[in-house]
Amino acid sequence: MKHDYTSLFIDGQWVAPHSADVNTVINATTEEAMGRTPISDSADVDAAVAAARRAFDGTGWSDLEPAARADTLERFAHELEKRSTLIAETVTAENGMPITLSVPANGYSGAGFLRYYAGLIREFPLEETRAGDRPGEILVRREPLGVVAALVPWNYPQALAMMKIAPALAAGCTVVLKPALETALDANIMAEAAAAAGLPPGVFNVVPGGIEAGQALVAHPGVDKVSFTGSTATGRIIGEVAGRLLRPVTLELGGKSAAIVLDDADVATAVGGLAEVSFPNNGQTCTANTRVLAPARRYAQILDAVTDLAKSLTVGDPFDPATAVGPVVSARQRERIEGYIATGRGEGARLTAGGGRPAHLERGWFLEPTVFGDVRNDMVIAREEIFGPVITVIPYRTDTEAVELANDNEYGLAGSVWTGDVERGTALARRIRTGTIGINGYRIDNAAPFGGYKASGLGRENGPEGLMAYFQTKSILPPVTA
Ligand code: NAD
Repeated sequence: MKHDYTSLFIDGQWVAPHSADVNTVINATTEEAMGRTPISDSADVDAAVAAARRAFDGTGWSDLEPAARADTLERFAHELEKRSTLIAETVTAENGMPITLSVPANGYSGAGFLRYYAGLIREFPLEETRAGDRPGEILVRREPLGVVAALVPWNYPQALAMMKIAPALAAGCTVVLKPALETALDANIMAEAAAAAGLPPGVFNVVPGGIEAGQALVAHPGVDKVSFTGSTATGRIIGEVAGRLLRPVTLELGGKSAAIVLDDADVATAVGGLAEVSFPNNGQTCTANTRVLAPARRYAQILDAVTDLAKSLTVGDPFDPATAVGPVVSARQRERIEGYIATGRGEGARLTAGGGRPAHLERGWFLEPTVFGDVRNDMVIAREEIFGPVITVIPYRTDTEAVELANDNEYGLAGSVWTGDVERGTALARRIRTGTIGINGYRIDNAAPFGGYKASGLGRENGPEGLMAYFQTKSILPPVTA
Protein backbone atom coordinates (compact mmCIF):
# COMPACT_ATOMS: atom_id res chain seq x y z
CA MET A 1 0.00 0.00 0.00
CA LYS A 2 1.52 3.30 -1.06
CA HIS A 3 -0.25 6.65 -1.07
CA ASP A 4 1.29 9.66 -2.70
CA TYR A 5 -0.71 12.86 -2.48
CA THR A 6 0.96 16.02 -3.76
CA SER A 7 -2.18 18.15 -3.86
CA LEU A 8 -5.01 19.29 -1.58
CA PHE A 9 -8.76 18.70 -1.97
CA ILE A 10 -10.17 22.23 -2.08
CA ASP A 11 -13.24 23.53 -3.93
CA GLY A 12 -14.03 20.11 -5.35
CA GLN A 13 -10.66 19.72 -7.05
CA TRP A 14 -7.17 18.50 -6.28
CA VAL A 15 -5.09 21.69 -6.28
CA ALA A 16 -1.39 22.41 -5.87
CA PRO A 17 -0.60 23.47 -2.30
CA HIS A 18 0.90 26.84 -1.46
CA SER A 19 3.09 25.15 1.16
CA ALA A 20 6.18 23.29 -0.01
CA ASP A 21 6.35 21.22 3.18
CA VAL A 22 5.81 17.48 2.84
CA ASN A 23 4.28 15.17 5.45
CA THR A 24 5.66 11.63 5.38
CA VAL A 25 3.24 9.18 7.03
CA ILE A 26 5.00 6.34 8.82
CA ASN A 27 3.53 2.86 9.23
CA ALA A 28 3.33 2.26 13.00
CA THR A 29 4.16 -1.44 12.63
CA THR A 30 6.99 -1.43 10.09
CA GLU A 31 8.31 2.07 10.92
CA GLU A 32 8.58 2.62 7.15
CA ALA A 33 7.20 5.48 5.07
CA MET A 34 3.78 4.54 3.69
CA GLY A 35 2.77 7.74 1.94
CA ARG A 36 2.87 11.48 1.89
CA THR A 37 0.70 14.56 1.76
CA PRO A 38 1.39 18.28 1.74
CA ILE A 39 1.54 20.02 5.13
CA SER A 40 -0.96 22.82 4.64
CA ASP A 41 0.06 26.31 5.69
CA SER A 42 -2.10 29.34 6.48
CA ALA A 43 -2.39 30.26 2.77
CA ASP A 44 -3.79 26.80 2.05
CA VAL A 45 -6.24 27.26 4.92
CA ASP A 46 -7.25 30.63 3.41
CA ALA A 47 -8.00 28.90 0.10
CA ALA A 48 -10.03 26.14 1.76
CA VAL A 49 -12.06 28.54 3.93
CA ALA A 50 -12.69 30.79 0.91
CA ALA A 51 -14.04 27.79 -1.01
CA ALA A 52 -16.24 26.72 1.90
CA ARG A 53 -17.43 30.34 2.29
CA ARG A 54 -18.40 30.58 -1.38
CA ALA A 55 -20.16 27.23 -1.18
CA PHE A 56 -22.12 28.35 1.87
CA ASP A 57 -22.94 31.89 0.73
CA GLY A 58 -23.42 31.38 -2.97
CA THR A 59 -24.06 27.89 -4.28
CA GLY A 60 -27.32 27.07 -2.58
CA TRP A 61 -26.16 24.05 -0.52
CA SER A 62 -27.73 25.53 2.59
CA ASP A 63 -30.94 26.43 0.71
CA LEU A 64 -31.49 22.96 -0.71
CA GLU A 65 -34.44 21.00 0.51
CA PRO A 66 -33.20 18.81 3.37
CA ALA A 67 -34.18 15.73 1.34
CA ALA A 68 -31.82 16.77 -1.45
CA ARG A 69 -28.94 17.16 1.01
CA ALA A 70 -29.88 13.80 2.51
CA ASP A 71 -29.65 12.19 -0.94
CA THR A 72 -26.13 13.60 -1.34
CA LEU A 73 -25.13 12.34 2.11
CA GLU A 74 -26.37 8.87 1.18
CA ARG A 75 -24.32 8.92 -2.02
CA PHE A 76 -21.30 9.97 0.07
CA ALA A 77 -21.99 7.03 2.41
CA HIS A 78 -22.16 4.66 -0.54
CA GLU A 79 -18.82 5.90 -1.91
CA LEU A 80 -17.20 5.43 1.52
CA GLU A 81 -18.59 1.91 1.76
CA LYS A 82 -17.10 1.10 -1.65
CA ARG A 83 -13.71 2.11 -0.19
CA SER A 84 -14.22 0.53 3.25
CA THR A 85 -11.45 -2.05 2.96
CA LEU A 86 -8.95 0.50 1.68
CA ILE A 87 -9.90 2.94 4.43
CA ALA A 88 -9.72 0.34 7.21
CA GLU A 89 -6.35 -0.97 6.04
CA THR A 90 -4.91 2.50 5.56
CA VAL A 91 -5.78 3.52 9.13
CA THR A 92 -4.44 0.25 10.53
CA ALA A 93 -1.13 0.94 8.81
CA GLU A 94 -1.11 4.61 9.88
CA ASN A 95 -1.90 4.25 13.56
CA GLY A 96 -1.65 0.54 14.45
CA MET A 97 -5.37 -0.05 15.15
CA PRO A 98 -6.15 -3.79 15.03
CA ILE A 99 -7.88 -4.53 11.73
CA THR A 100 -10.80 -6.21 13.49
CA LEU A 101 -11.59 -2.82 15.07
CA SER A 102 -10.56 -0.70 12.09
CA VAL A 103 -13.09 -2.34 9.75
CA PRO A 104 -16.11 -1.18 11.79
CA ALA A 105 -14.51 1.92 13.35
CA ASN A 106 -12.98 3.33 10.16
CA GLY A 107 -14.25 1.26 7.24
CA TYR A 108 -17.95 1.59 8.00
CA SER A 109 -18.53 4.15 10.77
CA GLY A 110 -18.34 7.17 8.47
CA ALA A 111 -21.08 5.80 6.23
CA GLY A 112 -23.11 4.98 9.34
CA PHE A 113 -23.02 8.58 10.58
CA LEU A 114 -23.90 9.90 7.11
CA ARG A 115 -26.89 7.59 6.81
CA TYR A 116 -28.03 8.40 10.35
CA TYR A 117 -27.95 12.18 9.76
CA ALA A 118 -29.47 11.82 6.27
CA GLY A 119 -32.41 10.06 7.92
CA LEU A 120 -32.66 12.64 10.68
CA ILE A 121 -32.59 15.72 8.45
CA ARG A 122 -35.38 14.34 6.28
CA GLU A 123 -37.68 14.50 9.31
CA PHE A 124 -36.16 17.27 11.42
CA PRO A 125 -38.43 20.27 12.14
CA LEU A 126 -36.55 23.32 10.81
CA GLU A 127 -39.39 25.71 11.56
CA GLU A 128 -42.02 25.72 14.25
CA THR A 129 -44.57 28.20 15.43
CA ARG A 130 -45.09 29.05 19.05
CA ALA A 131 -47.59 31.04 21.04
CA GLY A 132 -45.99 33.91 22.93
CA ASP A 133 -46.90 36.51 25.55
CA ARG A 134 -48.74 38.60 22.99
CA PRO A 135 -51.17 37.89 20.16
CA GLY A 136 -49.81 36.25 17.03
CA GLU A 137 -47.43 33.36 16.43
CA ILE A 138 -43.68 33.35 16.80
CA LEU A 139 -41.86 31.61 13.96
CA VAL A 140 -38.79 29.78 15.32
CA ARG A 141 -36.30 28.76 12.64
CA ARG A 142 -33.17 26.64 12.69
CA GLU A 143 -30.62 27.99 10.23
CA PRO A 144 -27.25 26.46 9.39
CA LEU A 145 -24.36 28.12 11.22
CA GLY A 146 -22.14 28.51 8.16
CA VAL A 147 -18.55 27.42 7.57
CA VAL A 148 -17.39 24.74 10.00
CA ALA A 149 -13.75 24.12 10.93
CA ALA A 150 -13.43 20.44 11.91
CA LEU A 151 -10.16 19.44 13.62
CA VAL A 152 -9.54 15.83 14.57
CA PRO A 153 -6.81 13.61 16.05
CA TRP A 154 -5.32 10.42 14.68
CA ASN A 155 -6.83 7.72 16.90
CA TYR A 156 -10.22 7.10 15.20
CA PRO A 157 -9.75 9.43 12.27
CA GLN A 158 -12.73 8.47 10.12
CA ALA A 159 -15.35 8.20 12.85
CA LEU A 160 -14.26 11.35 14.68
CA ALA A 161 -14.24 13.37 11.46
CA MET A 162 -17.63 12.10 10.37
CA MET A 163 -19.22 12.79 13.78
CA LYS A 164 -18.72 16.44 12.74
CA ILE A 165 -19.00 16.35 8.95
CA ALA A 166 -22.25 14.37 8.72
CA PRO A 167 -24.38 16.58 11.00
CA ALA A 168 -22.74 19.76 9.66
CA LEU A 169 -23.53 18.88 6.04
CA ALA A 170 -27.01 17.66 6.98
CA ALA A 171 -27.71 21.02 8.63
CA GLY A 172 -26.60 22.88 5.47
CA CYS A 173 -23.14 23.97 6.68
CA THR A 174 -19.95 23.60 4.65
CA VAL A 175 -16.79 22.08 6.11
CA VAL A 176 -13.02 22.42 6.17
CA LEU A 177 -11.52 19.28 7.72
CA LYS A 178 -8.05 19.41 9.24
CA PRO A 179 -6.93 15.85 9.90
CA ALA A 180 -3.88 15.06 11.99
CA LEU A 181 -0.70 14.56 10.00
CA GLU A 182 -0.39 10.95 11.23
CA THR A 183 -3.69 10.03 9.54
CA ALA A 184 -3.81 12.43 6.62
CA LEU A 185 -3.93 9.63 4.02
CA ASP A 186 -7.30 8.19 4.98
CA ALA A 187 -8.72 11.73 5.11
CA ASN A 188 -7.78 12.09 1.44
CA ILE A 189 -9.59 8.84 0.66
CA MET A 190 -12.63 10.44 2.30
CA ALA A 191 -12.16 13.42 -0.04
CA GLU A 192 -12.06 11.07 -3.04
CA ALA A 193 -15.34 9.55 -1.88
CA ALA A 194 -16.88 13.02 -1.49
CA ALA A 195 -15.84 13.93 -5.03
CA ALA A 196 -17.21 10.67 -6.43
CA ALA A 197 -20.49 11.28 -4.59
CA GLY A 198 -20.87 14.63 -6.36
CA LEU A 199 -20.73 16.95 -3.37
CA PRO A 200 -20.89 20.49 -4.78
CA PRO A 201 -17.49 22.23 -4.97
CA GLY A 202 -16.36 23.78 -1.69
CA VAL A 203 -18.92 21.99 0.48
CA PHE A 204 -16.17 19.72 1.83
CA ASN A 205 -12.45 20.56 1.83
CA VAL A 206 -9.43 18.87 3.44
CA VAL A 207 -6.25 20.55 4.68
CA PRO A 208 -3.87 18.03 6.28
CA GLY A 209 -1.70 20.00 8.64
CA GLY A 210 -0.17 20.54 12.02
CA ILE A 211 -0.36 23.35 14.52
CA GLU A 212 0.10 26.17 11.97
CA ALA A 213 -2.86 25.03 9.88
CA GLY A 214 -4.90 24.29 13.02
CA GLN A 215 -4.33 27.73 14.51
CA ALA A 216 -5.04 29.46 11.20
CA LEU A 217 -8.29 27.53 10.78
CA VAL A 218 -9.62 28.04 14.31
CA ALA A 219 -9.08 31.82 14.20
CA HIS A 220 -9.97 32.35 10.53
CA PRO A 221 -12.44 35.21 10.00
CA GLY A 222 -14.34 33.14 7.44
CA VAL A 223 -15.15 30.36 9.93
CA ASP A 224 -18.47 30.39 11.82
CA LYS A 225 -18.11 27.33 14.05
CA VAL A 226 -15.21 25.26 15.37
CA SER A 227 -15.60 21.59 16.20
CA PHE A 228 -12.49 20.07 17.74
CA THR A 229 -11.61 16.59 18.97
CA GLY A 230 -8.25 16.11 20.67
CA SER A 231 -6.38 16.62 23.89
CA THR A 232 -7.67 18.74 26.74
CA ALA A 233 -4.52 20.90 26.57
CA THR A 234 -5.19 21.85 22.94
CA GLY A 235 -8.92 22.12 23.62
CA ARG A 236 -8.28 24.78 26.28
CA ILE A 237 -6.23 26.84 23.78
CA ILE A 238 -8.92 26.51 21.10
CA GLY A 239 -11.64 27.34 23.62
CA GLU A 240 -9.79 30.54 24.56
CA VAL A 241 -9.52 31.62 20.92
CA ALA A 242 -13.18 30.78 20.28
CA GLY A 243 -14.15 32.70 23.42
CA ARG A 244 -12.27 35.80 22.29
CA LEU A 245 -13.91 35.60 18.85
CA LEU A 246 -17.33 34.70 20.32
CA ARG A 247 -17.32 31.75 17.93
CA PRO A 248 -19.43 28.69 18.76
CA VAL A 249 -17.24 25.72 19.62
CA THR A 250 -17.67 22.03 20.35
CA LEU A 251 -14.79 20.41 22.24
CA GLU A 252 -14.41 16.62 22.52
CA LEU A 253 -11.41 16.13 24.79
CA GLY A 254 -9.59 13.60 26.96
CA GLY A 255 -10.84 11.07 29.46
CA LYS A 256 -9.88 8.89 32.43
CA SER A 257 -13.00 6.85 32.77
CA ALA A 258 -13.91 4.37 35.49
CA ALA A 259 -15.16 0.81 35.03
CA ILE A 260 -17.02 0.13 38.29
CA VAL A 261 -17.26 -3.58 39.08
CA LEU A 262 -20.05 -4.00 41.64
CA ASP A 263 -19.90 -6.71 44.28
CA ASP A 264 -22.69 -8.70 42.57
CA ALA A 265 -20.91 -8.85 39.20
CA ASP A 266 -19.80 -12.10 37.66
CA VAL A 267 -16.05 -11.51 37.64
CA ALA A 268 -15.29 -13.60 34.55
CA THR A 269 -17.93 -11.77 32.49
CA ALA A 270 -16.96 -8.34 33.77
CA VAL A 271 -13.24 -8.76 33.30
CA GLY A 272 -13.74 -10.44 29.91
CA GLY A 273 -15.66 -7.32 28.83
CA LEU A 274 -12.81 -5.07 29.90
CA ALA A 275 -10.74 -6.25 26.90
CA GLU A 276 -12.98 -4.17 24.66
CA VAL A 277 -13.68 -1.40 27.15
CA SER A 278 -10.29 -0.79 28.75
CA PHE A 279 -7.78 -1.62 26.00
CA PRO A 280 -9.53 -0.57 22.76
CA ASN A 281 -7.23 0.58 19.96
CA ASN A 282 -4.13 -0.28 22.01
CA GLY A 283 -5.44 2.03 24.73
CA GLN A 284 -5.47 5.02 22.39
CA THR A 285 -9.12 5.76 22.98
CA CYS A 286 -10.60 8.78 24.73
CA THR A 287 -13.35 6.61 26.24
CA ALA A 288 -11.01 3.85 27.49
CA ASN A 289 -12.06 2.73 30.98
CA THR A 290 -8.58 2.93 32.47
CA ARG A 291 -9.54 3.01 36.14
CA VAL A 292 -11.05 -0.30 37.20
CA LEU A 293 -12.81 0.18 40.56
CA ALA A 294 -13.05 -3.13 42.41
CA PRO A 295 -14.88 -3.91 45.71
CA ALA A 296 -12.25 -4.34 48.45
CA ARG A 297 -13.47 -7.76 49.52
CA ARG A 298 -13.07 -9.14 46.00
CA TYR A 299 -10.08 -6.96 45.10
CA ALA A 300 -7.47 -9.75 44.90
CA GLN A 301 -9.73 -11.91 42.73
CA ILE A 302 -10.51 -9.05 40.34
CA LEU A 303 -6.90 -7.83 40.14
CA ASP A 304 -5.78 -11.38 39.33
CA ALA A 305 -8.43 -11.69 36.61
CA VAL A 306 -7.53 -8.31 35.06
CA THR A 307 -3.85 -9.31 35.18
CA ASP A 308 -4.60 -12.62 33.45
CA LEU A 309 -6.68 -10.81 30.84
CA ALA A 310 -3.84 -8.39 30.03
CA LYS A 311 -1.35 -11.26 29.76
CA SER A 312 -3.70 -13.17 27.47
CA LEU A 313 -4.13 -10.39 24.89
CA THR A 314 -2.23 -11.15 21.67
CA VAL A 315 0.19 -8.33 20.86
CA GLY A 316 1.46 -8.10 17.31
CA ASP A 317 0.77 -7.28 13.68
CA PRO A 318 -2.47 -5.26 13.64
CA PHE A 319 -3.34 -6.76 10.24
CA ASP A 320 -3.58 -10.22 11.84
CA PRO A 321 -7.21 -10.81 12.87
CA ALA A 322 -5.96 -12.64 15.98
CA THR A 323 -4.21 -9.50 17.27
CA ALA A 324 -5.86 -7.69 20.16
CA VAL A 325 -3.17 -5.05 20.74
CA GLY A 326 -1.11 -3.44 17.95
CA PRO A 327 1.59 -0.78 18.15
CA VAL A 328 0.96 2.74 19.42
CA VAL A 329 0.99 5.52 16.86
CA SER A 330 4.55 6.84 17.15
CA ALA A 331 7.87 6.54 18.91
CA ARG A 332 7.12 9.77 20.79
CA GLN A 333 3.80 8.41 22.03
CA ARG A 334 5.45 5.18 23.22
CA GLU A 335 8.07 7.14 25.15
CA ARG A 336 5.34 9.22 26.78
CA ILE A 337 3.50 6.07 27.88
CA GLU A 338 6.73 4.53 29.18
CA GLY A 339 7.23 7.69 31.21
CA TYR A 340 3.87 7.07 32.89
CA ILE A 341 4.78 3.43 33.59
CA ALA A 342 7.96 4.65 35.32
CA THR A 343 5.90 7.19 37.27
CA GLY A 344 3.49 4.46 38.40
CA ARG A 345 6.35 2.34 39.69
CA GLY A 346 7.84 5.36 41.44
CA GLU A 347 4.51 6.15 43.12
CA GLY A 348 4.43 2.69 44.67
CA ALA A 349 1.79 1.07 42.46
CA ARG A 350 2.31 -2.66 41.93
CA LEU A 351 2.97 -3.72 38.34
CA THR A 352 1.13 -7.02 37.80
CA ALA A 353 1.25 -7.32 33.99
CA GLY A 354 3.35 -5.87 31.19
CA GLY A 355 5.34 -2.72 31.77
CA GLY A 356 7.74 -3.08 28.84
CA ARG A 357 8.19 -3.65 25.14
CA PRO A 358 7.31 -7.16 23.91
CA ALA A 359 10.55 -9.09 23.39
CA HIS A 360 9.34 -10.89 20.27
CA LEU A 361 8.68 -7.75 18.23
CA GLU A 362 11.77 -5.97 16.97
CA ARG A 363 10.07 -3.32 14.92
CA GLY A 364 6.97 -1.22 15.49
CA TRP A 365 6.07 0.91 18.49
CA PHE A 366 4.68 -1.91 20.60
CA LEU A 367 4.05 -1.98 24.34
CA GLU A 368 2.78 -4.84 26.49
CA PRO A 369 -0.73 -4.50 27.94
CA THR A 370 0.07 -3.19 31.40
CA VAL A 371 -1.82 -3.42 34.69
CA PHE A 372 -1.08 -1.63 37.95
CA GLY A 373 -2.59 -2.90 41.22
CA ASP A 374 -2.62 -1.28 44.66
CA VAL A 375 -3.36 2.04 43.01
CA ARG A 376 -4.73 5.02 44.94
CA ASN A 377 -7.02 7.38 43.07
CA ASP A 378 -4.69 10.32 43.80
CA MET A 379 -1.70 8.78 42.04
CA VAL A 380 -0.62 10.39 38.75
CA ILE A 381 -1.34 7.15 36.85
CA ALA A 382 -4.92 7.24 38.13
CA ARG A 383 -5.43 10.95 37.43
CA GLU A 384 -3.87 11.63 34.03
CA GLU A 385 -4.78 10.29 30.62
CA ILE A 386 -1.99 7.89 29.56
CA PHE A 387 -3.41 7.07 26.09
CA GLY A 388 -1.77 3.66 25.84
CA PRO A 389 -2.44 0.08 26.96
CA VAL A 390 -2.05 0.84 30.67
CA ILE A 391 -4.81 0.43 33.26
CA THR A 392 -5.09 0.79 37.01
CA VAL A 393 -7.11 -1.25 39.52
CA ILE A 394 -8.35 0.69 42.55
CA PRO A 395 -10.18 -0.73 45.59
CA TYR A 396 -13.39 0.73 47.10
CA ARG A 397 -15.45 -0.27 50.13
CA THR A 398 -19.03 0.92 49.48
CA ASP A 399 -21.06 1.89 46.40
CA THR A 400 -20.97 5.48 47.59
CA GLU A 401 -17.18 5.38 47.76
CA ALA A 402 -17.11 3.91 44.23
CA VAL A 403 -19.19 6.85 43.01
CA GLU A 404 -16.91 9.31 44.82
CA LEU A 405 -13.78 7.76 43.33
CA ALA A 406 -15.25 7.66 39.83
CA ASN A 407 -16.20 11.34 40.13
CA ASP A 408 -12.93 12.38 41.77
CA ASN A 409 -11.16 13.11 38.50
CA GLU A 410 -10.71 16.10 36.23
CA TYR A 411 -12.34 14.24 33.34
CA GLY A 412 -15.88 12.95 32.78
CA LEU A 413 -16.19 11.39 29.34
CA ALA A 414 -17.26 7.73 29.57
CA GLY A 415 -17.47 4.82 32.01
CA SER A 416 -19.17 1.53 32.74
CA VAL A 417 -20.86 -0.33 35.57
CA TRP A 418 -20.61 -4.13 35.81
CA THR A 419 -23.33 -5.86 37.78
CA GLY A 420 -25.74 -8.77 37.93
CA ASP A 421 -28.58 -6.29 38.53
CA VAL A 422 -29.12 -3.87 35.65
CA GLU A 423 -31.46 -1.64 37.69
CA ARG A 424 -28.89 -1.28 40.44
CA GLY A 425 -26.23 -0.52 37.81
CA THR A 426 -28.44 2.10 36.16
CA ALA A 427 -29.14 3.77 39.51
CA LEU A 428 -25.42 3.98 40.17
CA ALA A 429 -24.74 5.23 36.62
CA ARG A 430 -27.07 8.18 37.30
CA ARG A 431 -24.68 9.34 40.03
CA ILE A 432 -21.56 9.44 37.84
CA ARG A 433 -20.62 12.84 36.41
CA THR A 434 -19.85 11.69 32.89
CA GLY A 435 -21.20 12.20 29.38
CA THR A 436 -21.79 8.52 28.52
CA ILE A 437 -21.79 5.39 30.64
CA GLY A 438 -22.58 1.76 29.80
CA ILE A 439 -24.02 -1.10 31.80
CA ASN A 440 -22.06 -4.37 31.42
CA GLY A 441 -20.22 -2.95 28.41
CA TYR A 442 -19.65 0.31 26.60
CA ARG A 443 -20.30 1.11 22.96
CA ILE A 444 -20.90 4.48 21.32
CA ASP A 445 -24.17 4.71 19.40
CA ASN A 446 -25.04 7.07 16.52
CA ALA A 447 -28.22 8.07 18.33
CA ALA A 448 -26.73 8.53 21.83
CA PRO A 449 -25.47 12.05 22.61
CA PHE A 450 -21.71 11.83 23.19
CA GLY A 451 -19.44 14.31 24.93
CA GLY A 452 -17.80 15.28 28.15
CA TYR A 453 -18.43 16.71 31.58
CA LYS A 454 -15.68 18.85 33.14
CA ALA A 455 -12.31 18.79 31.35
CA SER A 456 -13.60 16.24 28.84
CA GLY A 457 -15.20 18.96 26.81
CA LEU A 458 -18.09 21.18 25.81
CA GLY A 459 -21.17 20.23 23.81
CA ARG A 460 -22.42 16.95 22.42
CA GLU A 461 -22.03 15.00 19.20
CA ASN A 462 -24.26 12.22 17.83
CA GLY A 463 -28.04 12.03 18.10
CA PRO A 464 -30.24 15.05 17.38
CA GLU A 465 -28.06 17.00 19.85
CA GLY A 466 -25.15 16.57 17.44
CA LEU A 467 -27.23 18.10 14.64
CA MET A 468 -28.38 21.02 16.82
CA ALA A 469 -24.73 22.00 17.24
CA TYR A 470 -24.71 23.19 13.59
CA PHE A 471 -27.76 25.44 13.73
CA GLN A 472 -28.41 29.00 14.79
CA THR A 473 -31.89 29.62 16.16
CA LYS A 474 -33.82 32.59 14.82
CA SER A 475 -37.16 33.92 16.07
CA ILE A 476 -39.32 35.89 13.66
CA LEU A 477 -41.71 37.81 15.85
CA PRO A 478 -45.35 38.48 14.96
CA PRO A 479 -46.55 41.97 13.99
CA VAL A 480 -46.83 44.28 16.97
CA THR A 481 -50.37 45.38 17.48
CA ALA A 482 -51.28 48.33 19.64
P1 NAD B 1 -3.97 16.98 19.96
O1 NAD B 1 -4.80 17.92 20.77
O2 NAD B 1 -2.51 17.09 20.05
O3 NAD B 1 -4.31 17.15 18.38
C1 NAD B 1 -5.62 17.05 17.88
C2 NAD B 1 -5.72 17.88 16.61
O4 NAD B 1 -5.50 19.26 16.88
C3 NAD B 1 -4.70 17.51 15.54
O5 NAD B 1 -5.34 17.62 14.28
C4 NAD B 1 -3.62 18.56 15.72
O6 NAD B 1 -2.89 18.78 14.54
C5 NAD B 1 -4.43 19.78 16.08
N1 NAD B 1 -3.76 20.80 16.87
C6 NAD B 1 -2.74 20.64 17.77
N2 NAD B 1 -2.45 21.82 18.35
C7 NAD B 1 -3.31 22.75 17.82
C8 NAD B 1 -3.52 24.14 18.05
N3 NAD B 1 -2.81 24.85 18.92
N4 NAD B 1 -4.51 24.76 17.37
C9 NAD B 1 -5.28 24.07 16.50
N5 NAD B 1 -5.12 22.75 16.24
C10 NAD B 1 -4.15 22.10 16.90
O7 NAD B 1 -4.50 15.54 20.31
P2 NAD B 1 -3.82 14.13 19.99
O8 NAD B 1 -2.77 13.88 20.99
O9 NAD B 1 -3.48 14.05 18.56
O10 NAD B 1 -5.07 13.17 20.24
C11 NAD B 1 -5.27 12.47 21.41
C12 NAD B 1 -6.22 13.21 22.33
O11 NAD B 1 -7.51 13.31 21.73
C13 NAD B 1 -6.45 12.48 23.63
O12 NAD B 1 -6.41 13.39 24.70
C14 NAD B 1 -7.84 11.91 23.48
O13 NAD B 1 -8.51 11.64 24.68
C15 NAD B 1 -8.52 12.95 22.68
N6 NAD B 1 -9.70 12.39 22.01
C16 NAD B 1 -10.95 12.79 22.42
C17 NAD B 1 -12.08 12.23 21.84
C18 NAD B 1 -13.47 12.66 22.25
O14 NAD B 1 -14.39 12.46 21.47
N7 NAD B 1 -13.69 13.22 23.42
C19 NAD B 1 -11.94 11.27 20.85
C20 NAD B 1 -10.66 10.88 20.49
C21 NAD B 1 -9.55 11.46 21.07
